[in-house]
Amino acid sequence: MDTNETISRNFIEREIDKDIKEGKTTKVVTRFPPEPNGYLHIGHAKSILLNYGLAREYKGEFNLRFDDTNPTKEDVEFVDSIKDDIKWLGANWNGDIHYASNYFEKMYECAVYLIKKGKAYVCDLTADEIRQYRGTLSEPGKESPYRDRTIEENLRLFEEMRAGKYADGEKVLRARIDMASPNINMRDPVIYRISHMTHHNTGDEWCIYPMYDFAHPIEDAIEGITHSICTLEFEDHRPLYDWVVQETDWENPPRQIEFAKLYLDGVVTGKRYIKKLVEEGIVDGWDDPRLVTIAALRRRGFTPESIRNFIELSGVSKANSTSDYALLEYCVREDMKPGRSRMYAVLDPIRLVIDNYPEDQVEYFDVVNNVENEALGSRKVPFSKELYIERTDFMEEPPKKYFRLYPGNEVRLMNAYFVKCVDYEKDENGNVTVVHCTYDPATRSDLNFTERKVKGTIHWVSAAHSARVEARLYENLVMEIDGSIKNESGDYNINPDSLTVLTDCRVEASLLDAKPYDAFQFVRNGYFSVDPKDSKEGAPVFNRVVSLKSSYKPS
Ligand code: ATP
Ligand code: MG
Repeated sequence: MDTNETISRNFIEREIDKDIKEGKTTKVVTRFPPEPNGYLHIGHAKSILLNYGLAREYKGEFNLRFDDTNPTKEDVEFVDSIKDDIKWLGANWNGDIHYASNYFEKMYECAVYLIKKGKAYVCDLTADEIRQYRGTLSEPGKESPYRDRTIEENLRLFEEMRAGKYADGEKVLRARIDMASPNINMRDPVIYRISHMTHHNTGDEWCIYPMYDFAHPIEDAIEGITHSICTLEFEDHRPLYDWVVQETDWENPPRQIEFAKLYLDGVVTGKRYIKKLVEEGIVDGWDDPRLVTIAALRRRGFTPESIRNFIELSGVSKANSTSDYALLEYCVREDMKPGRSRMYAVLDPIRLVIDNYPEDQVEYFDVVNNVENEALGSRKVPFSKELYIERTDFMEEPPKKYFRLYPGNEVRLMNAYFVKCVDYEKDENGNVTVVHCTYDPATRSDLNFTERKVKGTIHWVSAAHSARVEARLYENLVMEIDGSIKNESGDYNINPDSLTVLTDCRVEASLLDAKPYDAFQFVRNGYFSVDPKDSKEGAPVFNRVVSLKSSYKPS
């Protein structure tokens, strides 16, 4: 380990270093514990890569555990998507996948163990009463009248709870800790509740289910997790976590360390909110490319490398903050820059006719695929009398500093000739339909013409040789109004222009062979990737991953 590495170590690594040095642990075992109730998002990617990265760094192990202690209906779709997403990110979990519900028996034993130690009791107070008895931040709580039941009675009642003798809510099992604790989580928290519901894994075997704060530390302990890394909202629960593993007498108890969640500026990251957007049909499913679920990012064309880099650059911290979406864009741009061919694709075409170019002539220009990467070679691009150019590359009445086509102006057609605008045609609605130009044969790109210069360079495709494809452009799904992305009722301000579908793009014909996830730079327009869902053989649909320009540079 060199000095630089030492200095840049994050606080979690420093804690682990300390544990190893003090002999508290010899091996590092981490885990990612998703609840299978939705798709993973960019925030989960942070947790996954952090846990996986630590396990790798310390040559330890990284577990995947579905935290399925809630008896809700099984959602195979979520379980499958979570596995796919973690694999795609490149985080390889160790051995078999774990399911928290497989530990119910062990958890039950732990609860019985606590009862026998006098550290847990069955309580008959209602949920409302428990809340009233709990006290507040400034006032201590009040002890439950059931707190001093005998161990024998508690054992019998708990067994009867398990056997299904009581209705939901009739009784709970509580840890017997301290009703006067300044930490409300320690005021005899409920650790088991009754719920007569069918569990997707254990069926009707159980009608009592452990609460998260009791179940999670035991799950960790069973798997031999050494460092249980979670997000900041669990910081106040850590004393309870420690209490549970201590009182249930694990030989090598796990240790909880909290870090700040990843938030993206101006982007919806919470699972609950994403679910709402999906359920209300505001987006087209969990993998709608406007979302930041892993599935959506992948579909849109983000690469695992770009996400890993983004997570790396956004750092691990103990203080909540938001990361800039532009940083994610920067990462994918940097990732794609060297490896993707730069193609000519006209998103919103108008025709350009070169009046003095021979009618049936076709020339093939050699175009380097990527000037930053010779290995990608070059291709032949056909050129003819009728081309398509971007509608925005012509203006009848240009503003100052507009250097592209307008009557009388000359521009460079990328890798071809200079052309000068001599005329244009409009339809009955006043829309420009054709731009007429003349070309100067002396300006051909391989002739090193230097006698005069032009300020604008535009791309083009030969009309007869081009292919028509669909492209989709994305903007932020939510928008800021009066400085907030939410309105007064707490709902997001939805941007009505978050999706633009362009069905008449004209591109180099070879792009028709592109396969799902193939990605290209479309010169001047951004990086585009083939949509895996809506593309058909020979009819790719291109998603814009990111545009080319950004003012963003990481500090
Ligand atoms: P959400 O906050 O979106 O509702 P969740 O916490 O309900 O997500 P879980 O399936 O319980 O989702 O999360 C699995 C793990 O991912 C937990 O350890 C959780 O702390 C972590 N996690 C969730 N959101 C983020 C985030 N934004 N940044 C980092 N880690 C996160
Ligand atoms: Mg959660």
